[in-house]
This record gives sequence, structure tokens and C-alpha cells, in this order.
Amino acid sequence: MTRTASHNAVVRELADLLHPRPRFHEPFRTACEDPLFAWHSGLTADERCELAYRRLRMLDQHGPGATTLVREPLRLFALQEWAAVVDPTTLSLAAIHYNLCQGTIRDLRGSGEHLEQCLDELARADSFGVFLATELAYGNNVAAMETRAVYDPESREYTLHTPGPRAVKFMPNTGLGVPKTGVVLARLISLGRDRGVFPFVVPIRDGAATPGVKIRALPEKPGLDLDNAVTAFDRARIPYENLLPGTHSSLAPDGRFHSDISPHQRFARAMGRVTPGKLGLAGGHVAAARAAVALTTRYSHQRRSSGKRGRACLMDHGGHRSAVLRELARVYATTFLVHEEQRRYAEHRDDVTGREQRIALTKAYATWSAAHTVTVCRERCGAQGLFSVNRIPEYIGLGHVTVTSEGDNSVVAIKAAQQIVLGVDHTHPPVPGVGPSDSDMLDPAWWYRLIIARKERLIAEARKSRGESSTSSFETWSALEPLLLEIAHVSATALALETMLRALGRAESPTARHCLHSLAGLEALDEIARSRGWYVLEGLMGEPEARNLPKALDELRDRIAPHSRELVEAFDVPQSVLRAPIGAEDYIESWSELAESVKPRDDGQARSRDQVRTRCTEPSK
Ligand SMILES: Cc1cc2nc3c(=O)[nH]c(=O)nc-3n(C[C@H](O)[C@H](O)[C@H](O)COP(=O)(O)OP(=O)(O)OC[C@H]3O[C@@H](n4cnc5c(N)ncnc54)[C@H](O)[C@@H]3O)c2cc1C
Repeated sequence: MTRTASHNAVVRELADLLHPRPRFHEPFRTACEDPLFAWHSGLTADERCELAYRRLRMLDQHGPGATTLVREPLRLFALQEWAAVVDPTTLSLAAIHYNLCQGTIRDLRGSGEHLEQCLDELARADSFGVFLATELAYGNNVAAMETRAVYDPESREYTLHTPGPRAVKFMPNTGLGVPKTGVVLARLISLGRDRGVFPFVVPIRDGAATPGVKIRALPEKPGLDLDNAVTAFDRARIPYENLLPGTHSSLAPDGRFHSDISPHQRFARAMGRVTPGKLGLAGGHVAAARAAVALTTRYSHQRRSSGKRGRACLMDHGGHRSAVLRELARVYATTFLVHEEQRRYAEHRDDVTGREQRIALTKAYATWSAAHTVTVCRERCGAQGLFSVNRIPEYIGLGHVTVTSEGDNSVVAIKAAQQIVLGVDHTHPPVPGVGPSDSDMLDPAWWYRLIIARKERLIAEARKSRGESSTSSFETWSALEPLLLEIAHVSATALALETMLRALGRAESPTARHCLHSLAGLEALDEIARSRGWYVLEGLMGEPEARNLPKALDELRDRIAPHSRELVEAFDVPQSVLRAPIGAEDYIESWSELAESVKPRDDGQARSRDQVRTRCTEPSK
């Protein structure tokens, strides 16, 4: 086998381990090579937003169709990964249009076929789906929302109304003047009684806002181009059939209401699509982080700096190399974790509580990690990391979306950790191949034992504090939140390590095994090193081992450094999709070509010094 052939074989093997279903990705990857996805100079935020809608349409045309995307989550997750890499605003649109809007309608429309026409329109993207839950005064506490839908048996209609300024729907992407169909969450009132929160299908705009719907734009959000707006209802009339009751509740035409489940469960069902939504956003964000690491690694191998008589490249500098390789390991860990949880979700492997808990932990861990990775990459590319054409700044904006929407990271992580403290823990089945550990610092059993020990002791600490507390339940839990966040983090780290070690168990070639072992070690030992003082105080690690941690980390980095190109090639994000100058074979040449397409800042007119002075000093009108 030639050197190139063995290089290709390792890349292929790693790619297969990372992306288990390439055929789901292929159509979207091809679509992203279309010029529509190239970087465009000088667009306004509104123009970039419009472009995102056109891009979503194109991805849709290349895919299996909306109905399949909504039914087969792994295909939608694949679309979301490519959307995130080429245009993060398109990722947000896809999440809302397919999953939150069409997914909720399909899941909860009950047995009737009445909403078929509306679903057809959405499936053809003749209308875009939006989701209106959050209100100005109700974010993470959205279950307490005030918007009301009062049912009138006479007219067989609901009157959808915003009772005051606190209840305006905040943040839905209703701003752009294209047809939009909304899933609106509101309190159902029938026969004078509040029946809890339900979703309703509401035409929001057909170009202009529909009667009874009032839309106001929101001010600028730097780095985020979505057309988020404020939307209120002024006695909008909605037909009886547009309630989405699900299979456990029903409203008779005469207004009689029946439900087998509690109001809390009804709310959870109305928001049910937020669970796969977390996996879609996390998968997209991690895909963007992979692209950022791939670009940074490629660039770091060709960019020259001081040293070796001017021949040293960035990767030759130990500090730079160690930062980039750390993010390479992190992004491998988050990729294995997110893909594993996406598969578990698609195969219905967990019960409802287990699924919610694992997905919440995964979303928080993966999106916080990806945000960190992208920020490090931005800095490690120097000034090049500032330009949209190099993609990385767009991914920084994406981080602000993913950590807050579809379940705010802190809130969902705290809730998942609370359950763990209460004894409901769905997170750690034993990893095959990890037996009793000795103290070899490069042995996966050692890493795993320490991380699980930390998790168990933190849980014990939380239980003890709870037991000793004399304050109210809210105050006790509230005081424990920093500890709960740490429990969530360590639990997710253990999950990520397990998925990496399982991938290591499946790897066949010595090079792939060698790389995956070192990447898992970097991820685990760095996590352990972060709390090494605690480990020593707890008697879980001796002082000599604590002192040796930096050396062990150096050794692992040295092992993967020669393979960094193969490791990022396995991400399979080609330059034909990224089109970033720093990802090109020759970034100098690529910048020279790019200069032609950058819209000039001046209008080309000659001005006298006086004219220039006036232009720069006169107050804006
Ligand atoms: C880009 C973007 C797009 C969005 N699109 C939509 C959309 O299409 N439709 C829609 O309905 N909504 C949308 N949202 C709104 C989103 O769902 C909310 O932002 C989210 O639910 C968080 O609510 P909040 O922003 O009001 O934060 P808040 O509730 O004000 O929380 C802020 C912070 O307070 C703390 N906190 C709050 N509650 C708790 C708690 N219980 N425990 C511990 N700490 C807590 C946390 O630190 C949290 O980060 C979007 C948001 C963003 C950022």
C-alpha cells in the first residue's frame, strides 16, 4: 500500500466512525456546492435573512421532501449539519420550519385529516412554518404564558387574544414578508374554564399580516440575521379544527373538554418537539465547530511565522499546536456524543425521562463545548478569523442561538442534574472493555474511574447539602445550582467518553485506534486536570500523578500531532463547500482572487479634503 493509500484508508475509517449514515448527508452536501451558498459581499442583515430562506428552499429541493424529513429525524439532523456549516441562519430556519412547526402539527393533530392542506403548503415551502411560544414576560417560565384562545361553540371558532404587553409573542421569526404559518401556544378556555396550554395552527402572514395579527420588528441583533419579531393577536378568529389536542385530550364541538393527562403533561406534549430540536441544534453547532477546527488546522499548517529561519508554520509552535489539538479532541468527543444520542432518539431506545435527561445533558455540553471551540479557532486564526468569508465569525453568532433556544442550557442542565440527585440517573451504562483500573495514566479505565468517582461524590455532596438544609425547597435547590451545573457537566463528560471508547472498540486499523485513544485521553485527562486539586484532596489521586498530568497531556498531543490533517479530513467538509480563503491550498492566492469580489467601501468618487472632513464630522440626520 502506498503512503497516500494508507492515509486515505485511515481518513475513510475515521469518517465512517464519525458519520454513520453518509447517504443521508450526500444530497445536502451536493446542494451546498451550489453558488447560492457562496459568500456574498456587502449584504445587509435583511438581505442575508432573505438569502437564508432561499437557501432553505434549495436544501429542501435536494432532500427527500418535508414529510420524510419530519418523520425521519436522522435525515433532518443531516440537513441541519450542512445548513449550519454554510449559513447558521438557515439552520435556525430549518429547525423551526420542519421540526417545531410541521413536527408539532403532525404529532398532535389527532385523528382528523383537516390540516392536510396546510401541511401540503408547508411541505412545498409555499408557506414557512414558525413557532410562537415565548412571551415578553415568559421565557424559561413559558408554561405560565397568558395568551388565550377562548372557544365559542356557537361559531365553532376560537378567539385568539394577547391580553397585555407582557403576553406579546417574543422572538418568533415572523418579520420577513413571506407567507408564514404559525404553531401558536395559548391557554385554551372552554365553557369558562382554563384547560391549560395547547398549540393552535394560525395563518400569520400571507405577505402582509393576516387580520387580527400584529407584527413589529425587533431591533438589530449583531451576528444573528433571523427575522425575529414581536407578534400579538387582536381577537383573531381561528376555526375549531385548528386546535392540536394530541391523542390524550379532546374538545367536543359543544365545548366539553376531556383529557387523560395533567395540565403539566399537556404542556410537555405541546412543547414535545423541543426535545429533538435540541439534538438538531446541537448537531448543527458541532458540525460548525468541526468546520472551524478543520479550517484552523489546514491554515495552521500553511501559515508561516517566526522560527526555523522563517520556515516554521503555526503548527510548529507548541502553544498554538496544543490549543488547536485540544479543540480537535473536544470536537471529536462532542461529535461522537451527539451522533450517538441522535441515533438513540431515532431508534426510540430510551423511555421519556431517560430521553429528556440524556438529550438535555448532551445539548448543554455539546453547544457550550462547540462555542468554546469556535472562539479558540477564531483567535488561533488571527485577523483571518474575523472575516465572514472564512466562516468562523458566523459560527460564533450561532453559539448565541444554540445555548439559549430550544431549552436554555443552564436551565435544562440544572433540571437534568436535579433528577440525577433525586436518584433518576439514565446516564451511565458500563463501557465494554473498561475493567478495574490501575494507575496507568494513559489507560482509559483510569480516566473513566476518576470521572465517574467525581460524579458520584458530587452527587453525594448535593444530597448531603439537601438533607442538612433548613430552608424552603426552592431556596435549597437554588443554592445548589452551581453544584448541579457541575454534576451535569461531569455526567455529560462521562457520556462523551463512553461513546469515544465505544468508537475506539470498533476501530480496526492501528492508526485509527492510536488516534482515537489519544483523542479520548486528551478529552478525559484535560477534564481531570481541571479539577486535579479536588482529586488530590479527595484522596482519589496521589500528588505525583497530579504533577504528572501535564506531561501525560503533552504525550497524547505529541501522538496525534502527526495525524492532525487526517483527523480533520475525516470531518468531510470540503473546500468546495466552505470556500474559505484560509481553507484553500494556497491562502495567499485565494485572498488575491477574493479581493475582486469584495464590495468597495467608497463609491469611487474623488472628494476634496474639505468634503471628506465634512463627511466624517457632520451629525447624522
Ligand atoms: C435566536 C433565538 C431564536 C428564538 N426563536 C424563538 C421562536 O421561534 N419561538 C419562540 O417561541 N421562542 C423563540 N426564542 C426564545 C427562546 O425560546 C427563549 O429565549 C428561551 O426560552 C429562554 O428564555 P429567555 O430568553 O426569556 O431567558 P430567561 O428566562 O430570562 O433566562 C435568562 C437566564 O436566567 C437564568 N434562569 C432563568 N430561569 C431559570 C431557572 N428556572 N433555573 C435556573 N436559572 C434560570 C439562566 O441563567 C438563563 O440563562 C428564540 C430565542 C433565540 C435566542
